[in-house]
Amino acid sequence: MLEDLARIGLDPSTGGYVRDAWSAADLTLREWFRDQAARRGLDLHEDRNGNQWAWWGDSSREPGVVTGSHLDSVRQGGAFDGPLGVVSAFQAVDLLRERGFTPSKPIGVACFTDEEGARFGVPCMGSRLLTGVLDPERARGLADDDGDRLGEVLARQGRKPEDLGADPETLARIGVFVELHVEQGRGLADHDCPVGVASAIWPHGRWRFDFRGQANHAGTTRLEDRDDPMLAYAAKVLAAREAAVKHGVVATFGKLRVSPNNANAIPGLVSAWLDSRGAGEAEVRALVAELSEGAAVSEESWTPVVDFDVALRERVAVAAHRALGAPGGPGMMVPVLPTGAGHDAGILAGAGVPSAMLFVRNPTGISHSPEEHAERADCEAGVAALAGVLEELTR
Ligand SMILES: [Zn+2]
Repeated sequence: MLEDLARIGLDPSTGGYVRDAWSAADLTLREWFRDQAARRGLDLHEDRNGNQWAWWGDSSREPGVVTGSHLDSVRQGGAFDGPLGVVSAFQAVDLLRERGFTPSKPIGVACFTDEEGARFGVPCMGSRLLTGVLDPERARGLADDDGDRLGEVLARQGRKPEDLGADPETLARIGVFVELHVEQGRGLADHDCPVGVASAIWPHGRWRFDFRGQANHAGTTRLEDRDDPMLAYAAKVLAAREAAVKHGVVATFGKLRVSPNNANAIPGLVSAWLDSRGAGEAEVRALVAELSEGAAVSEESWTPVVDFDVALRERVAVAAHRALGAPGGPGMMVPVLPTGAGHDAGILAGAGVPSAMLFVRNPTGISHSPEEHAERADCEAGVAALAGVLEELTR
């Protein structure tokens, strides 16, 4: 199944993926999801925010156990971030059926829309709209790099942008959510276990900084006459690194928009996006406050710390451990670890849905890059663990 997906949105010049929400690649991925649901005889439902749900059993009668992830990617992302969770979800359903298992509750496979926020700037858009934490009016007005607003993009595709928004009916069908994801760090790399369980997601946010100056000729403008916003931006990047060390968090300027973006012109405007995360909310906030002094800053997203439900986490860890044949011997448990990466499971947990996450080992820890990798055997262990967890939660 991962090989099926390998061509979609691939940039052959880098080996990376570009799967922006609602792009041609994304539409192909949505079709692939529908096809996978149909092949298995699962009932497909697309909610008002574009999230896709494939149900084994009738979720209108009672809430089910849902697993899945997303199929969109960051720009120049890897093959596993998102797709591994969706593929593993379908594979886990197959495995349970092969075993002749009959779940006592519906099992759902989910694919969330626009998890990465690569195009419109707000991550976990599908789950934020679903749970009502993102105002639909704001979502419709978000523009991509070409100035196209989400509302217009959806309308052009024959969808109904006016339908976006909180969807308590769909939300009520999710009794429990378990997301499997490739690990995006090296937490498991040094463990003798291919699968781990998430304890928490660090609080994280995105902020846009606008540095204004005077666009002018790069050759004829004397140094003392320049009002060059690139200098202010450069100073801010260095300040962010220093503040990150001071507050014990991470801070990254990874996206930049320069106007007019000519090699022979002093820019008139530099917009830069800061991403900051850390174990403590106060420390992240302190860093942003410090960097915001005297600058034009707008907060594009903020996600508070997520501590996953402890009882559910334990149950998931025990079931995964059992499904993997108790690696590490008796008395050992699959590793439980926090992550600095945001996920739809975190948004759902924040909305009161009991949620948990399984991580599959990433040998280098590299993610959001074409070099992201997981070994086949580890992916298969992930499927086995997920099937064990679904079995435990629906027996
Ligand atoms: Zn992801």
